[in-house]
Amino acid sequence: MHVKTATFVTSATKPAECPQSDVPEIAFAGRSNVGKSSLINCLVNRKKLVKTSNTPGRTQLINFFNINDALMLVDLPGYGYAKVPAKVRAQWRSMIESYLLSRRVLKGVVLIIDARRDGPNAQEVDFLNWLQKHRLPVLPVLTKCDKIKKNALIGQRQKNAHALGLEAQMLIHFSAKTRLGRDEVWEAIDALVMEE
Ligand code: GDP
Repeated sequence: MHVKTATFVTSATKPAECPQSDVPEIAFAGRSNVGKSSLINCLVNRKKLVKTSNTPGRTQLINFFNINDALMLVDLPGYGYAKVPAKVRAQWRSMIESYLLSRRVLKGVVLIIDARRDGPNAQEVDFLNWLQKHRLPVLPVLTKCDKIKKNALIGQRQKNAHALGLEAQMLIHFSAKTRLGRDEVWEAIDALVMEE
C-alpha cells in the first residue's frame, strides 16, 4: 500500500471504546520491546506515529491508526515482560482477546518475533494457538534481522517456524533499521485485506 496519510485515531481498553469503523483492520502483537512500534512506523514511513517506549509493558492500551481512510492498523499492548505481575498479564490477555473476538472488521494479526532469539517462548506459542483456534489469520514477522549475520538468518527462521508449527517460508524477514522486508509485509497485509 502507498501510504498517503497516517493518523492516530484513539486508544481503547475495551471493545466499547474501539472506534466504529467499516474499513479493514490489521492488528500487531508481540512481546514488549520486540520492535512493534518501529515496525508500524516503518510501514507508514513515519518516525514517531507510534511512540516507542523504553519502559516495556507500560502502555496497556489498544491504539488505532487510520491509514488513507482505507485501513486501520491496530497496535496491541506488548506482552510477556517479566516484571509485569501475573494479574496485569491476565488483564492484558482478557483485553486483547475481547478485542480480537469482537472486531468484525479484523482481517489478521501480525505476530512479531525477535529474530535473534532461538525460538518463541511458551506465551507466544500459546497466543498463536489461540489465534489459530479462533481462525484469525496470522502473519508472522521476524524482526531485528539486521542484527543477525545473513547466513544465520535462514537457520533462525527455521527454528522459529518449527517452534511455532508453521512453514518457514511464512515468516517474513524484517528490519526497521534497514527496511528489509517492508514491501513483503505490505504485500502480505494487502493480501489479508483482500481476503473475504
Ligand atoms: P516495542 O516495545 O515492541 O514497540 O519496541 P520498539 O519499536 O520500541 O523497539 C524496541 C527497541 O528495539 C528500540 O530500541 C528500537 O530502536 C529497537 N529496534 C526495533 N526494531 C529494530 C530493528 O529492526 N533493528 C534494530 N537494530 N533495532 C530495532
